[in-house]
Amino acid sequence: MAERSADNLLDQCISPHVAMAQRDHVRLDWQPPYGALARVRPVAWTCTCRATFYELCEGGGQAFIRRTVQLDDKPEISETYRWLIAEARLVWTALLAGRVR
Ligand SMILES: [Zn+2]
Repeated sequence: MAERSADNLLDQCISPHVAMAQRDHVRLDWQPPYGALARVRPVAWTCTCRATFYELCEGGGQAFIRRTVQLDDKPEISETYRWLIAEARLVWTALLAGRVR
């Protein structure tokens, strides 16, 4: 994506980084990519300078968080359950703050 490569080109971080997970953080249930939701688009993402980055994806009135772990051979992608968009945005905020992971 253009936004991500722009981060690298400028050699500085534009997108947010997730905070360290708090000791009592809520663990999200990460599933293999579901892949059936049409017209999914990322609406927010964390900086790809970290080995693990996250995207808030919305589509069809639902939303979920996609986690990508950048491994040497190929990225390992997992996703949360689908939520209502408003719920997913709350989870996204909590993710950035380290309250869920
Ligand atoms: Zn960064």
